Amino acid sequence: MGTARRVLPAMWLALGLLQFTVGWRVCSASEADEKKAQDLFTKAQKMLDADDYAKAIPALGQIAAKYAGTVKGTEAAELLKPGAALQFKKLQATGPEDARIDVVFVGEGYTVAFEKRGKKSEDTNGDGLTSDNDQDLFCKDVQLALKIMKGESPFKEYWNFFNFYRLNVVSRQTGCDVPERKVEMDTPFNAKFENSVMSVDWGKVSGAVEKHLKPDFIIVLAQRGEKGSSVMEKGFAVVGLRGSPPAAGTPDKSWEPDWGLQSLIHELGHAIGKCGDEYFVDSPFGPPPETEPACPNVTRETDRSKIKWKHWIEPATPIPTTGGDQTGGPVGLFEGAFAAKTGFYRPYGWCAMRGRAVGGENPFCPVCREAILLQMYGKVKLLSNPKPETYDEVIVASKTALTFEADVLIPSESEIRVEFVIEPEDPSVKVDKPALTVVQGKKHKGDTYKAAYKADTARLKPGRYTLKLKCSDSTPSVRSDPEGRTQAEHMWRIVIW
Ligand SMILES: [Zn+2]
Repeated sequence: MGTARRVLPAMWLALGLLQFTVGWRVCSASEADEKKAQDLFTKAQKMLDADDYAKAIPALGQIAAKYAGTVKGTEAAELLKPGAALQFKKLQATGPEDARIDVVFVGEGYTVAFEKRGKKSEDTNGDGLTSDNDQDLFCKDVQLALKIMKGESPFKEYWNFFNFYRLNVVSRQTGCDVPERKVEMDTPFNAKFENSVMSVDWGKVSGAVEKHLKPDFIIVLAQRGEKGSSVMEKGFAVVGLRGSPPAAGTPDKSWEPDWGLQSLIHELGHAIGKCGDEYFVDSPFGPPPETEPACPNVTRETDRSKIKWKHWIEPATPIPTTGGDQTGGPVGLFEGAFAAKTGFYRPYGWCAMRGRAVGGENPFCPVCREAILLQMYGKVKLLSNPKPETYDEVIVASKTALTFEADVLIPSESEIRVEFVIEPEDPSVKVDKPALTVVQGKKHKGDTYKAAYKADTARLKPGRYTLKLKCSDSTPSVRSDPEGRTQAEHMWRIVIW
């Protein structure tokens, strides 16, 4: 008993210690794993931020495999699943979303293929291709698309009107469905090339994009596909890049040309400018509609005074116009548009809306360029941050000087006229000109110009005035702007006493 009495406490103590040790070990092992997974995930995230997918994807794969069950292990696994948004990145930011044109490029049919190991010739996901890590390729494709877009008028002159974003999405397979060839691919947005038309599931695309941003335009780059198509009213475009996928078992030789991206400019004409097709084919897609198309560059009208683009037609140009098979030349009324040879007219011989365009070849005609610009102006704010902010009356005691200012968005290659006008409510009151000083503005971030006006109110007679800051684009590319989209105005009411 005496011994037992002595042993028992020692036993309890040992058991207690054991319990504590086991408990401590379990707890600490888990926490350590969470921490390791977190550290590795942070590193992988940095690789993603640097667009180093060749390192980031295997790193995420290892976190998912080695630290399964931890928070970051689960997150890494989710990021690599087919359909997952691997990364959403801002590529160019020139201003706030509500004051700029937000364009998102979305990748379709780009795999991560991190599980691919060993032989280079191995086709691990059954898409007939042996490429791995298509995400690097998508980043390059977006850069190429941006380069093509930036080389084209009117985008290049207004490049700072755009914010660009990129959404990398994981695809299980590379390619798109081609029902005529019984090719079926497992891609996140169901890209399909059928009856010479490229399409994707736009509901799924906008769902994926809108988790991050509500953009003005979405451009899907389908890494395998042909031609392009657009949903004009929604501002969506899909462009197939490298030809449709080879039939199963066929060696793939058509990887090289960027033929598909040459239809990008044409699709942007649809998506951004709401322009119609200016081409015509032997067998049009369907019977021509009886009503006048809404597009700014296609008409059924042959009466010169009623043609939508009459402000671009010189009086000497005959209507209808013949011989329009070359780029350049006068704006007129050429028969053949909207895919139909007769009944519809286009404004120009050749325009990007009639075919492929790249590197300044086959540019938009003046009518399409004007239409695109007006749509672009509908999405930006030429004037922002007015100070004082109020639209109500600014009451100023005489003998005080007050500065009125606002930021004016200046296009990369076009001039904006900036003007301050002060008007007395009582027209008989004369404004003392020296009282009005347009303070020299200065350019700052994002090509915006700080326009400032100093009112030396001591020199203004007591009374009510309106002060207007007026801006307008003086580009010759816009001849008709009935809604005044290329202009902006801010007004302050001032009471001097
Ligand atoms: Zn055109």
